[in-house]
Amino acid sequence: MTDGDEVPIVRGAGVSPGRAAGPTVRMATAAGEPPSRRTSLSEDEAAQAIVDAATAVAEGLSARSEEAEGTAREVLQTTAQIAKDPTLVKDAQERVRSEGVTPERAVWEAAGAVADQFESLGGYFAERARDVSDVRDRIIAHLLGAPSPGLPQREEPYILLAQDLAPVDTAQLDPQVVRALVTEQGGPTSHTAILARSLGIPAVVGVGAGIEDVATHAEVLVDGGSGKIYLEPTAQQVAAARERPRQRRFDPPGRTSDGYRVALLANVAEVGQAGPAAEAGAEGIGLFRTEFAYLGRDCEPSIDEQVEAYTGVFEAFPGRRVVIRTLDAGADKPLPFLSTGEEANPALGVRGIRTSWYDPQVLENQLTAIARAAEASSAEVWVMAPMIAQVSEAEDFVRTCAAHGLKTAGVMVEVPSAALLAGPILARAAFASIGTNDLVQYTLAADRLLGSLSMLSTPWDPAVLRLVESTCEGGRAQDRPVGVCGEAAADPVLAAVLVGLGVSSLSMTARALGDVGTLLAGSTLAQCRQAAGLALSAENAEDAREAARETLTAVDDLGL
Ligand code: PEP
Ligand code: MG
Repeated sequence: MTDGDEVPIVRGAGVSPGRAAGPTVRMATAAGEPPSRRTSLSEDEAAQAIVDAATAVAEGLSARSEEAEGTAREVLQTTAQIAKDPTLVKDAQERVRSEGVTPERAVWEAAGAVADQFESLGGYFAERARDVSDVRDRIIAHLLGAPSPGLPQREEPYILLAQDLAPVDTAQLDPQVVRALVTEQGGPTSHTAILARSLGIPAVVGVGAGIEDVATHAEVLVDGGSGKIYLEPTAQQVAAARERPRQRRFDPPGRTSDGYRVALLANVAEVGQAGPAAEAGAEGIGLFRTEFAYLGRDCEPSIDEQVEAYTGVFEAFPGRRVVIRTLDAGADKPLPFLSTGEEANPALGVRGIRTSWYDPQVLENQLTAIARAAEASSAEVWVMAPMIAQVSEAEDFVRTCAAHGLKTAGVMVEVPSAALLAGPILARAAFASIGTNDLVQYTLAADRLLGSLSMLSTPWDPAVLRLVESTCEGGRAQDRPVGVCGEAAADPVLAAVLVGLGVSSLSMTARALGDVGTLLAGSTLAQCRQAAGLALSAENAEDAREAARETLTAVDDLGL
């Protein structure tokens, strides 16, 4: 494909803004399913080869975990643990003995059985099935003497090309070395996209077969804002990409160039993220996901434990707004103490506020804890419920919060019905916060976890923008604030469109505050409104985005 001026480009979905140029390096891919052949090794030799390969993989991962920090360390440790688990090795050895197949085939089959078992358990275990496949591929690569799948071990900066990234790879991305990321699969809400944004690495996902063209070029320029990859960048473009600051600072408060105020807030999912969010200039917290306090536990955390966890975040924002979301579990995140049962369509199941219909005490306990933590802190605590679909649910939630002394109770707008009924909902609730990640999946009927539907999963879709507009209209009619806390708020150009649609606060990963704040500060409210109008009347996501980018003239100056 070529641009207007005949510059060869490949297009994908730009999911993490910024421009970077550099040599491309393709991530080694897994060898795939080994054929079912008989081994020429003796039983003992084959069994020993399996233990040796698994041990080497486990040791390699453990050694890397020691050099890593934070999440990367934890993910590497978990993966090393799976490689060390004797069940996988024993099962593979058993298959060599009983079926006489090659060690690599035996490992493939044994890992398949373990992954199936994990998947059938659901929740946390289902997530680990991906790690099992990753370990399997590494052991097989070792047995075949092939390069291990995963991030290239290089110190010189490069542009990473990959089919998609396993959690263990994403956790190890070093922004100093991986200048930009281009993936064949994945969509804007995939874990790869979310992580790239939180690390500030420009990323384009879902380029499909175009990745082959990118791979054949020695040096490319990736524009993570527009989703374009320039295959033959000019020396000038490369130099300009190098000069751009990798991360802009946010200078609060958020406002447009003509002084229209937009509160720029941060999303946090654990206590440790609150301090860095405050340091990054966040004016408050717009989404405090509380699942961390519950996940991976057999029983509900005690009220005291919850009070401690919530207090940690409230204290990082004295006198500021902290919007805490009640537990969003169930369905694909089942908890042993919530009675959600087996469901064929988990995204449409008993999740979010719906779990409280069956287990009201869990919500009661959480609200007790939130009220106690709020009382002891000077933060301005707002509470909101996930997955509200009906007016009566909003009314019940507000009443329940009031009984706990929590006066500012709002709703998340993640289901199209709530966007359409925002007027009556906001006649009851104090505010609305639009969760665009789920709103996209329910509007386009595309599971947000499915890479195969990533072309549908974009908040730029005009249908999604119309629902945002409808929510803002409901807010205006009731004089209630409407914010956005989904990933859409972290895309600077889309953030400006959301402001133009009437959103008064934007909550995002703290790293995005600099780019979003800078673009808003370089745009007038009239430009935001014009961009919003054009995007709303577009017929598809790509046209909506192009129209907005052309209208917001600061986009090019800032290289977003
Ligand atoms: C959303 O759906 O946009 C949202 C913010 O909630 P989560 O991503 O936690 O579902
Ligand atoms: Mg959601």
